[in-house]
Amino acid sequence: MTSASARPTRTLLTGAVVLPDRIVADGAVAVSDGTIAYAGERTSLPGAWVDVAEPDGWQAGLTLLPGLVDIHCHGGNGGEFGPDAASAHRAARHHHQQGSTTVVGSLVSAPAATLLEGARTLGDLVRSGELAGIHVEGPFLSTVRCGAQDPAALVDADVALVAALAEAAGDGALAQLTWAPERTGGDAVPAALAAVGAVGALGHSDADFETASRALDVVAAFGARGGLPLATHLFNGMPPLLSRAPGAAGAAIAAAARGSAIVELIADGVHLDGGTVRMVFDAAGPEHVALVSDSMSASGLSDGAYTLGGLDVAVSGRVARLTGNGSLAGGVSTLLDQVRWLVRDLGIPLSDAVAAASTTPARALALTGSGSLAPGQHADLLVVDSQLVLHRVLRRGSWL
Ligand SMILES: [Zn+2]
Repeated sequence: MTSASARPTRTLLTGAVVLPDRIVADGAVAVSDGTIAYAGERTSLPGAWVDVAEPDGWQAGLTLLPGLVDIHCHGGNGGEFGPDAASAHRAARHHHQQGSTTVVGSLVSAPAATLLEGARTLGDLVRSGELAGIHVEGPFLSTVRCGAQDPAALVDADVALVAALAEAAGDGALAQLTWAPERTGGDAVPAALAAVGAVGALGHSDADFETASRALDVVAAFGARGGLPLATHLFNGMPPLLSRAPGAAGAAIAAAARGSAIVELIADGVHLDGGTVRMVFDAAGPEHVALVSDSMSASGLSDGAYTLGGLDVAVSGRVARLTGNGSLAGGVSTLLDQVRWLVRDLGIPLSDAVAAASTTPARALALTGSGSLAPGQHADLLVVDSQLVLHRVLRRGSWL
Protein backbone atom coordinates (compact mmCIF):
# COMPACT_ATOMS: atom_id res chain seq x y z
CA MET A 1 0.00 0.00 0.00
CA THR A 2 1.08 3.55 -0.68
CA SER A 3 1.20 6.31 1.87
CA ALA A 4 0.61 9.01 -0.74
CA SER A 5 -2.71 10.68 -0.03
CA ALA A 6 -2.66 13.32 -2.73
CA ARG A 7 -5.60 13.19 -5.07
CA PRO A 8 -4.55 13.14 -8.72
CA THR A 9 -7.26 14.75 -10.81
CA ARG A 10 -7.14 12.16 -13.59
CA THR A 11 -6.17 8.54 -13.00
CA LEU A 12 -6.36 5.50 -15.26
CA LEU A 13 -6.30 2.05 -13.64
CA THR A 14 -6.19 -1.19 -15.60
CA GLY A 15 -6.74 -4.85 -14.79
CA ALA A 16 -9.66 -7.23 -14.43
CA VAL A 17 -12.68 -5.13 -13.42
CA VAL A 18 -15.64 -6.39 -11.38
CA LEU A 19 -18.69 -4.53 -12.70
CA PRO A 20 -22.26 -4.89 -11.39
CA ASP A 21 -23.27 -7.14 -14.30
CA ARG A 22 -20.02 -8.83 -15.39
CA ILE A 23 -16.30 -9.23 -14.88
CA VAL A 24 -14.14 -7.68 -17.60
CA ALA A 25 -10.81 -9.50 -17.97
CA ASP A 26 -8.98 -6.70 -19.82
CA GLY A 27 -10.63 -3.70 -18.24
CA ALA A 28 -10.01 -0.12 -17.24
CA VAL A 29 -11.38 2.36 -14.72
CA ALA A 30 -10.97 6.08 -15.39
CA VAL A 31 -11.18 8.42 -12.38
CA SER A 32 -11.67 12.16 -12.63
CA ASP A 33 -11.90 14.47 -9.58
CA GLY A 34 -12.91 11.75 -7.15
CA THR A 35 -15.59 10.32 -9.42
CA ILE A 36 -15.60 7.35 -11.78
CA ALA A 37 -15.67 8.61 -15.36
CA TYR A 38 -15.52 5.21 -17.07
CA ALA A 39 -15.44 1.52 -16.10
CA GLY A 40 -15.41 -1.25 -18.68
CA GLU A 41 -13.37 -2.79 -21.49
CA ARG A 42 -9.98 -1.18 -22.00
CA THR A 43 -10.54 -1.27 -25.77
CA SER A 44 -13.66 0.91 -25.36
CA LEU A 45 -11.97 3.69 -23.34
CA PRO A 46 -13.27 7.12 -24.34
CA GLY A 47 -10.85 9.02 -26.60
CA ALA A 48 -9.85 11.54 -23.93
CA TRP A 49 -8.33 8.73 -21.88
CA VAL A 50 -6.38 6.65 -24.40
CA ASP A 51 -3.12 8.57 -23.84
CA VAL A 52 -3.38 8.67 -20.02
CA ALA A 53 -0.84 6.36 -18.31
CA GLU A 54 -1.37 4.28 -15.20
CA PRO A 55 0.27 5.55 -11.96
CA ASP A 56 4.02 4.91 -11.52
CA GLY A 57 4.73 1.35 -10.44
CA TRP A 58 1.29 0.11 -11.51
CA GLN A 59 1.29 -3.69 -11.53
CA ALA A 60 -0.38 -5.65 -14.33
CA GLY A 61 -2.59 -8.66 -13.69
CA LEU A 62 -4.47 -7.34 -10.65
CA THR A 63 -8.22 -7.08 -10.11
CA LEU A 64 -10.25 -3.93 -9.40
CA LEU A 65 -13.24 -4.34 -7.07
CA PRO A 66 -15.75 -1.67 -6.06
CA GLY A 67 -15.15 -0.22 -2.60
CA LEU A 68 -17.02 -2.42 -0.12
CA VAL A 69 -20.04 -1.20 1.88
CA ASP A 70 -20.34 -2.26 5.53
CA ILE A 71 -23.74 -1.27 6.94
CA HIS A 72 -23.31 -2.88 10.39
CA CYS A 73 -20.01 -2.17 12.11
CA HIS A 74 -19.18 -1.23 15.71
CA GLY A 75 -15.45 -0.55 15.59
CA GLY A 76 -11.92 -1.58 14.76
CA ASN A 77 -8.24 -0.96 15.48
CA GLY A 78 -9.08 -0.12 19.10
CA GLY A 79 -11.77 2.40 18.17
CA GLU A 80 -15.51 2.12 18.78
CA PHE A 81 -18.55 3.90 17.31
CA GLY A 82 -20.00 5.75 20.27
CA PRO A 83 -19.82 9.13 21.98
CA ASP A 84 -16.01 9.46 21.69
CA ALA A 85 -15.22 11.18 18.37
CA ALA A 86 -11.52 10.26 18.26
CA SER A 87 -12.34 6.61 18.91
CA ALA A 88 -15.04 6.59 16.22
CA HIS A 89 -12.68 8.25 13.73
CA ARG A 90 -10.06 5.57 14.43
CA ALA A 91 -12.59 2.80 13.77
CA ALA A 92 -13.80 4.34 10.50
CA ARG A 93 -10.24 4.85 9.27
CA HIS A 94 -9.40 1.19 9.97
CA HIS A 95 -12.27 -0.15 7.89
CA HIS A 96 -11.62 2.33 5.05
CA GLN A 97 -8.00 1.21 4.89
CA GLN A 98 -9.05 -2.44 4.88
CA GLY A 99 -11.36 -1.93 1.90
CA SER A 100 -14.74 -0.99 3.38
CA THR A 101 -14.74 2.48 1.83
CA THR A 102 -18.37 3.05 2.85
CA VAL A 103 -19.19 2.40 6.52
CA VAL A 104 -22.39 2.82 8.51
CA GLY A 105 -21.44 3.21 12.18
CA SER A 106 -23.41 1.03 14.61
CA LEU A 107 -24.29 1.91 18.21
CA VAL A 108 -24.98 -0.92 20.66
CA SER A 109 -27.90 -0.64 23.12
CA ALA A 110 -27.22 1.80 25.94
CA PRO A 111 -29.13 4.26 28.15
CA ALA A 112 -30.90 6.94 26.09
CA ALA A 113 -28.43 9.68 27.06
CA THR A 114 -25.48 7.60 25.83
CA LEU A 115 -27.25 6.72 22.58
CA LEU A 116 -28.11 10.37 21.94
CA GLU A 117 -24.52 11.41 22.56
CA GLY A 118 -23.32 8.65 20.22
CA ALA A 119 -25.80 9.76 17.53
CA ARG A 120 -24.50 13.34 17.81
CA THR A 121 -20.88 12.22 17.47
CA LEU A 122 -21.53 9.91 14.53
CA GLY A 123 -23.77 12.51 12.87
CA ASP A 124 -20.72 14.77 12.62
CA LEU A 125 -18.77 11.92 10.98
CA VAL A 126 -21.58 11.48 8.46
CA ARG A 127 -21.44 15.18 7.61
CA SER A 128 -17.64 15.02 7.21
CA GLY A 129 -18.00 12.05 4.84
CA GLU A 130 -16.22 9.51 7.06
CA LEU A 131 -19.43 7.54 7.66
CA ALA A 132 -22.34 6.98 5.29
CA GLY A 133 -24.94 6.78 8.05
CA ILE A 134 -25.77 5.58 11.54
CA HIS A 135 -27.22 2.24 12.64
CA VAL A 136 -28.72 2.02 16.11
CA GLU A 137 -28.85 -1.61 17.24
CA GLY A 138 -31.59 -1.41 19.85
CA PRO A 139 -32.50 -0.60 22.48
CA PHE A 140 -35.98 -2.11 21.80
CA LEU A 141 -34.65 -5.67 21.69
CA SER A 142 -35.64 -9.04 23.17
CA THR A 143 -33.95 -9.77 26.48
CA VAL A 144 -33.95 -13.50 25.65
CA ARG A 145 -32.18 -12.84 22.30
CA CYS A 146 -29.89 -10.06 23.49
CA GLY A 147 -26.61 -11.74 22.51
CA ALA A 148 -23.87 -9.28 23.46
CA GLN A 149 -26.30 -6.39 24.00
CA ASP A 150 -26.42 -5.26 27.63
CA PRO A 151 -29.78 -6.63 28.92
CA ALA A 152 -29.97 -3.77 31.42
CA ALA A 153 -30.11 -1.30 28.50
CA LEU A 154 -33.05 -2.98 26.71
CA VAL A 155 -36.44 -1.26 26.92
CA ASP A 156 -39.92 -1.37 25.38
CA ALA A 157 -40.34 0.49 22.12
CA ASP A 158 -40.42 4.28 22.52
CA VAL A 159 -41.19 6.29 19.39
CA ALA A 160 -40.17 9.53 21.12
CA LEU A 161 -36.65 8.10 21.47
CA VAL A 162 -36.61 7.25 17.74
CA ALA A 163 -37.41 10.86 16.91
CA ALA A 164 -34.83 12.16 19.40
CA LEU A 165 -32.12 9.89 17.97
CA ALA A 166 -32.86 11.09 14.44
CA GLU A 167 -32.73 14.70 15.59
CA ALA A 168 -29.46 14.18 17.48
CA ALA A 169 -27.95 12.49 14.40
CA GLY A 170 -29.20 15.30 12.15
CA ASP A 171 -29.71 15.60 8.39
CA GLY A 172 -31.12 12.11 7.72
CA ALA A 173 -27.96 10.54 9.19
CA LEU A 174 -29.92 7.85 11.05
CA ALA A 175 -30.06 5.15 8.36
CA GLN A 176 -31.28 2.03 10.15
CA LEU A 177 -32.48 0.85 13.55
CA THR A 178 -32.72 -2.75 14.76
CA TRP A 179 -35.78 -3.63 16.82
CA ALA A 180 -37.72 -6.65 18.07
CA PRO A 181 -41.32 -6.20 16.87
CA GLU A 182 -42.76 -8.34 19.67
CA ARG A 183 -41.67 -5.82 22.32
CA THR A 184 -44.48 -3.71 23.78
CA GLY A 185 -45.00 -0.78 21.40
CA GLY A 186 -43.00 -2.52 18.67
CA ASP A 187 -45.80 -2.14 16.10
CA ALA A 188 -45.29 1.65 16.11
CA VAL A 189 -41.58 1.55 15.29
CA PRO A 190 -41.72 1.23 11.45
CA ALA A 191 -43.86 4.38 11.11
CA ALA A 192 -41.63 6.31 13.53
CA LEU A 193 -38.57 5.29 11.52
CA ALA A 194 -40.20 6.11 8.19
CA ALA A 195 -41.06 9.57 9.53
CA VAL A 196 -37.34 10.29 9.95
CA GLY A 197 -36.22 8.48 6.78
CA ALA A 198 -34.70 5.44 8.44
CA VAL A 199 -35.03 1.75 7.53
CA GLY A 200 -36.38 -0.77 10.05
CA ALA A 201 -34.24 -3.84 10.72
CA LEU A 202 -35.71 -6.92 12.39
CA GLY A 203 -33.28 -8.41 14.87
CA HIS A 204 -32.37 -9.60 18.36
CA SER A 205 -35.95 -10.88 18.27
CA ASP A 206 -37.91 -13.81 19.64
CA ALA A 207 -40.89 -13.04 17.37
CA ASP A 208 -42.85 -15.85 15.77
CA PHE A 209 -43.07 -16.19 11.97
CA GLU A 210 -46.33 -14.23 11.64
CA THR A 211 -45.18 -11.30 13.78
CA ALA A 212 -41.82 -11.13 12.02
CA SER A 213 -43.37 -11.38 8.53
CA ARG A 214 -45.84 -8.62 9.31
CA ALA A 215 -43.08 -6.37 10.66
CA LEU A 216 -40.98 -6.80 7.50
CA ASP A 217 -44.03 -6.16 5.30
CA VAL A 218 -44.86 -2.94 7.15
CA VAL A 219 -41.28 -1.64 6.78
CA ALA A 220 -41.36 -2.55 3.07
CA ALA A 221 -44.66 -0.73 2.60
CA PHE A 222 -43.20 2.49 4.06
CA GLY A 223 -40.20 2.25 1.71
CA ALA A 224 -38.26 4.72 3.86
CA ARG A 225 -35.23 6.34 2.09
CA GLY A 226 -35.98 4.15 -0.93
CA GLY A 227 -34.33 1.23 0.85
CA LEU A 228 -35.51 -2.24 1.81
CA PRO A 229 -36.26 -3.84 5.20
CA LEU A 230 -33.28 -5.56 6.76
CA ALA A 231 -32.89 -8.61 8.95
CA THR A 232 -30.02 -7.91 11.34
CA HIS A 233 -27.36 -10.65 11.23
CA LEU A 234 -29.70 -13.45 10.13
CA PHE A 235 -29.68 -16.49 12.45
CA ASN A 236 -27.69 -14.68 15.14
CA GLY A 237 -29.86 -13.08 17.83
CA MET A 238 -32.98 -15.04 16.85
CA PRO A 239 -34.31 -18.56 17.46
CA PRO A 240 -33.20 -21.27 15.03
CA LEU A 241 -35.49 -22.11 12.10
CA LEU A 242 -37.46 -25.19 13.21
CA SER A 243 -39.97 -27.29 11.30
CA ARG A 244 -42.91 -26.10 13.39
CA ALA A 245 -41.43 -22.77 14.48
CA PRO A 246 -39.85 -20.95 11.52
CA GLY A 247 -39.61 -17.71 13.54
CA ALA A 248 -37.85 -14.54 12.45
CA ALA A 249 -35.22 -16.45 10.46
CA GLY A 250 -37.86 -18.18 8.36
CA ALA A 251 -39.78 -14.94 7.84
CA ALA A 252 -36.65 -13.05 6.80
CA ILE A 253 -35.45 -15.70 4.33
CA ALA A 254 -38.94 -15.88 2.79
CA ALA A 255 -39.14 -12.08 2.43
CA ALA A 256 -35.63 -11.92 0.92
CA ALA A 257 -36.46 -14.73 -1.52
CA ARG A 258 -39.55 -12.75 -2.62
CA GLY A 259 -37.34 -9.70 -3.15
CA SER A 260 -38.95 -7.62 -0.39
CA ALA A 261 -36.16 -7.67 2.24
CA ILE A 262 -32.39 -7.94 2.52
CA VAL A 263 -30.79 -10.28 5.06
CA GLU A 264 -27.49 -9.42 6.74
CA LEU A 265 -24.97 -12.24 7.16
CA ILE A 266 -21.86 -12.15 9.36
CA ALA A 267 -19.88 -14.41 7.01
CA ASP A 268 -16.71 -14.48 9.09
CA GLY A 269 -16.44 -18.26 9.49
CA VAL A 270 -17.39 -17.91 13.18
CA HIS A 271 -21.02 -16.75 13.36
CA LEU A 272 -22.37 -19.02 10.60
CA ASP A 273 -21.43 -22.35 9.08
CA GLY A 274 -20.30 -22.19 5.45
CA GLY A 275 -23.26 -24.33 4.43
CA THR A 276 -25.65 -21.84 6.02
CA VAL A 277 -24.10 -19.01 4.03
CA ARG A 278 -24.36 -20.97 0.78
CA MET A 279 -27.97 -21.92 1.52
CA VAL A 280 -28.94 -18.27 2.05
CA PHE A 281 -27.18 -17.20 -1.18
CA ASP A 282 -29.06 -19.95 -3.06
CA ALA A 283 -32.40 -19.07 -1.45
CA ALA A 284 -32.28 -15.27 -1.56
CA GLY A 285 -29.65 -14.52 -4.23
CA PRO A 286 -26.81 -12.02 -3.86
CA GLU A 287 -29.20 -9.13 -4.60
CA HIS A 288 -30.87 -9.78 -1.24
CA VAL A 289 -27.91 -10.73 0.96
CA ALA A 290 -25.75 -8.05 2.65
CA LEU A 291 -22.48 -9.15 4.20
CA VAL A 292 -21.77 -7.22 7.42
CA SER A 293 -18.71 -7.28 9.64
CA ASP A 294 -20.52 -6.50 12.95
CA SER A 295 -16.91 -5.82 13.92
CA MET A 296 -15.91 -4.52 17.32
CA SER A 297 -12.81 -2.65 18.43
CA ALA A 298 -10.48 -5.69 18.21
CA SER A 299 -10.77 -5.88 14.40
CA GLY A 300 -7.23 -5.51 13.08
CA LEU A 301 -5.65 -6.15 16.50
CA SER A 302 -4.37 -9.26 18.24
CA ASP A 303 -6.19 -11.54 20.68
CA GLY A 304 -6.74 -10.10 24.16
CA ALA A 305 -9.14 -8.21 26.43
CA TYR A 306 -11.46 -5.56 24.93
CA THR A 307 -14.87 -3.99 25.59
CA LEU A 308 -18.06 -3.65 23.55
CA GLY A 309 -20.47 -0.95 24.73
CA GLY A 310 -18.83 -1.12 28.15
CA LEU A 311 -19.12 -4.93 28.50
CA ASP A 312 -15.94 -7.00 28.84
CA VAL A 313 -14.99 -9.08 25.80
CA ALA A 314 -12.23 -11.66 25.37
CA VAL A 315 -10.89 -12.22 21.84
CA SER A 316 -9.21 -15.59 21.31
CA GLY A 317 -8.45 -17.27 18.01
CA ARG A 318 -10.27 -14.42 16.19
CA VAL A 319 -13.49 -15.20 18.12
CA ALA A 320 -14.89 -12.42 20.36
CA ARG A 321 -17.01 -13.47 23.33
CA LEU A 322 -18.48 -11.65 26.33
CA THR A 323 -16.56 -12.73 29.42
CA GLY A 324 -19.87 -12.66 31.34
CA ASN A 325 -22.21 -15.07 29.47
CA GLY A 326 -19.90 -16.33 26.71
CA SER A 327 -22.12 -14.90 23.96
CA LEU A 328 -20.47 -14.02 20.65
CA ALA A 329 -19.72 -10.29 20.93
CA GLY A 330 -19.60 -9.10 17.34
CA GLY A 331 -16.74 -10.05 15.06
CA VAL A 332 -13.24 -9.01 14.16
CA SER A 333 -13.35 -9.53 10.38
CA THR A 334 -13.57 -7.00 7.58
CA LEU A 335 -15.85 -7.32 4.57
CA LEU A 336 -12.91 -8.21 2.33
CA ASP A 337 -12.04 -11.07 4.72
CA GLN A 338 -15.60 -12.31 4.23
CA VAL A 339 -15.49 -12.01 0.43
CA ARG A 340 -12.23 -14.00 0.47
CA TRP A 341 -13.81 -16.77 2.59
CA LEU A 342 -16.87 -16.98 0.34
CA VAL A 343 -14.87 -17.18 -2.87
CA ARG A 344 -11.90 -19.29 -1.82
CA ASP A 345 -13.51 -21.67 0.69
CA LEU A 346 -17.22 -21.76 -0.13
CA GLY A 347 -17.00 -21.60 -3.92
CA ILE A 348 -19.36 -18.64 -4.24
CA PRO A 349 -18.68 -16.75 -7.51
CA LEU A 350 -16.59 -13.59 -7.07
CA SER A 351 -19.26 -11.39 -8.65
CA ASP A 352 -21.91 -12.71 -6.21
CA ALA A 353 -19.70 -12.28 -3.15
CA VAL A 354 -18.73 -8.75 -4.22
CA ALA A 355 -22.37 -7.80 -4.92
CA ALA A 356 -23.33 -8.89 -1.39
CA ALA A 357 -20.54 -6.70 0.00
CA SER A 358 -21.18 -3.62 -2.15
CA THR A 359 -24.22 -3.15 -4.42
CA THR A 360 -26.73 -4.92 -2.19
CA PRO A 361 -25.91 -3.23 1.15
CA ALA A 362 -25.81 0.14 -0.64
CA ARG A 363 -29.27 -0.56 -2.05
CA ALA A 364 -30.66 -1.65 1.34
CA LEU A 365 -30.08 1.84 2.74
CA ALA A 366 -30.16 3.69 -0.61
CA LEU A 367 -26.61 5.00 -0.08
CA THR A 368 -26.09 7.08 -3.18
CA GLY A 369 -22.69 7.22 -4.85
CA SER A 370 -21.48 3.94 -3.34
CA GLY A 371 -21.65 0.25 -4.16
CA SER A 372 -20.41 -0.24 -7.72
CA LEU A 373 -17.87 0.69 -10.34
CA ALA A 374 -20.07 2.78 -12.59
CA PRO A 375 -19.71 6.25 -14.09
CA GLY A 376 -20.78 8.98 -11.67
CA GLN A 377 -20.12 6.92 -8.54
CA HIS A 378 -17.52 7.90 -5.93
CA ALA A 379 -14.05 6.74 -6.99
CA ASP A 380 -13.94 4.01 -4.34
CA LEU A 381 -12.09 0.88 -5.41
CA LEU A 382 -9.85 -1.90 -4.19
CA VAL A 383 -6.86 -3.38 -5.97
CA VAL A 384 -6.53 -7.07 -5.07
CA ASP A 385 -4.50 -10.02 -6.35
CA SER A 386 -5.72 -13.45 -7.46
CA GLN A 387 -5.96 -14.57 -3.79
CA LEU A 388 -8.06 -11.47 -2.96
CA VAL A 389 -5.24 -10.03 -0.88
CA LEU A 390 -5.54 -6.26 -0.67
CA HIS A 391 -2.85 -4.20 -2.45
CA ARG A 392 -4.28 -0.67 -2.51
CA VAL A 393 -7.45 1.24 -1.63
CA LEU A 394 -8.75 4.28 -3.49
CA ARG A 395 -11.41 6.22 -1.55
CA ARG A 396 -13.15 9.29 -2.98
CA GLY A 397 -10.30 9.43 -5.52
CA SER A 398 -7.45 9.38 -2.96
CA TRP A 399 -5.10 6.47 -2.21
CA LEU A 400 -5.29 5.51 1.45
ZN1 LIG B 1 -24.15 -5.37 15.92
